[in-house]
Amino acid sequence: MKRKNAWSSYTEADIAALEAFSADYRAFLDAGKTERECVAEAVRLAEARGFADMNCVTAAKPGDRLYLNWMNKSILLFAIGTEPIESGMNILGAHIDSPRIDVKQNPLYEEEDLAYLDTHYYGGIKKYQWVARPLALHGVIAKKDGSVVCVNIGESEDDPVFCISDLLPHLAQEQMKKDAAKVVEGENLDLIIAGKPLGGEEKDAVKANVLKLLEAKGIEEEDFISAELEIVPAGKARDMGLDRSMILAYGHDDRVCAYPSLRAVLDFEGTPERTLCAVLTDKEEIGSVGATGMDSMFFENAMAELCALLGERTELSVRRCLRNSRMLSSDVSAGFDPLYASAFEKKNAAYLGRGLCFNKYTGSRGKSGSSDANAEYVAEIRRIMDDAGVAYQFAELGKVDLGGGGTIAFCCAKYGMNVIDAGVAVLSMHAPFEVINKADLYEAYRGYCAFLK
Ligand code: MN
Ligand code: MN
Repeated sequence: MKRKNAWSSYTEADIAALEAFSADYRAFLDAGKTERECVAEAVRLAEARGFADMNCVTAAKPGDRLYLNWMNKSILLFAIGTEPIESGMNILGAHIDSPRIDVKQNPLYEEEDLAYLDTHYYGGIKKYQWVARPLALHGVIAKKDGSVVCVNIGESEDDPVFCISDLLPHLAQEQMKKDAAKVVEGENLDLIIAGKPLGGEEKDAVKANVLKLLEAKGIEEEDFISAELEIVPAGKARDMGLDRSMILAYGHDDRVCAYPSLRAVLDFEGTPERTLCAVLTDKEEIGSVGATGMDSMFFENAMAELCALLGERTELSVRRCLRNSRMLSSDVSAGFDPLYASAFEKKNAAYLGRGLCFNKYTGSRGKSGSSDANAEYVAEIRRIMDDAGVAYQFAELGKVDLGGGGTIAFCCAKYGMNVIDAGVAVLSMHAPFEVINKADLYEAYRGYCAFLK
């Protein structure tokens, strides 16, 4: 079933709204290149709209706006509805971690007058894409005294950037014969951070100079042990194409779903009937594991806290709330790429510009690892989207047996709630710079707003 391109039905007013939303989204991407930065930005936006920290209230009532910051890496936002919490929530979920390269715990070394940080990549990357390009360093260094130093180097015009080197083609005869997975090996993704020796030092003088620079900031070498430093592509999100119809940026996966999910809850006016929830979570790229991943109890614990704030203090209320909730688990979908058409099955591919993309199921091989949405729920979603005039499409990640992937859907499906994957089609997913179409971003926002109503 061929779907129309969303742009073809836009009025001038639609396009003005789409461009305004796209500009806001680009600003969010530039402010949030790590999960921590995304949470900080979400808190800032939420507080500006009158959302209160859930830890600072003792009771909640319909109409209240609350947020819960979980370890600075995941965040929940609520707009409390008039219906009892036991009747469930409308939930929008997405992840805010993106594939990247992390700095190891004992990273700093010098080799032949160059100082490096040793690294360990995070998420599914094609390692050869990350060499010979400007990189920035974002994150935190937690010190023993309890203070936390925020790091953000490589984004402003006068900042230095960093780089991972690659072998020159003149000497790459052996390298070029290798499997693409091994052209650049994981242990070769070390970041060059300095090349000037400290005068008077005999051994490791470049490293000594780095340590001197760190010392001036109150940081010692041992502090790397309790640091989380993420290496990401340097530079801002940009409009792409002569017609400016697309956005080229780092981290569309999955901020292109997280941002419209956040905005749909922030922008909701008045008191909703069902309680609305947005959950922006960490660690999806490595399986939703860990204390800040969607498979952690943090979400369920937060629901128990919310029920208590609403006067429902029994375990059964929490179970009923979760069971009766419905969710759009939003994650990016593989956009059909005409240059790699053979990886897709055209009838069931996601196309750039054709609107919000639903995946009834994901998974690999025989749908392994998938949360397969119920047909009845899919029908309800179709009705909501059609009634709101949202452009949408249904797709699979790619051809059967070529690979596959998972999302956070399974984590919420375990409560027995209805959940379906919904998101935006992306070209070059997991590459340092990914491509989305602005119409899909805008239709995602419109679709999420319709779902909350
Ligand atoms: Mn994703
Ligand atoms: Mn991903």
